[in-house]
Amino acid sequence: MVRIHPPLLLRGDEVLILVNRYKCGYCGTCVGVCPSNALDLIELWLEIDQDSCSDCRSCVDVCPVGALAMEVE
Ligand code: SF4
Ligand code: SF4
Repeated sequence: MVRIHPPLLLRGDEVLILVNRYKCGYCGTCVGVCPSNALDLIELWLEIDQDSCSDCRSCVDVCPVGALAMEVE
């Protein structure tokens, strides 16, 4: 598994958005920028719908504490 940026994605790559739950401060910023409504903050739990994710990386870039990562398998 390697960490990449979207321009390097190949068709068929399986992308996962991962949250470091030790870093996440549950601010909801990532939820607000997601264009696919793939993120949901339920009390102190960030839910990620990987199937709805369009791999735009906005959430990773906007997180103020670096709690999100995009990985490809
Ligand atoms: S990468 Fe884009 S579409 Fe996927 S969860 Fe993050 S903001 Fe939403
Ligand atoms: S922007 Fe970062 S700290 Fe805020 S809820 Fe999302 S993952 Fe957690």
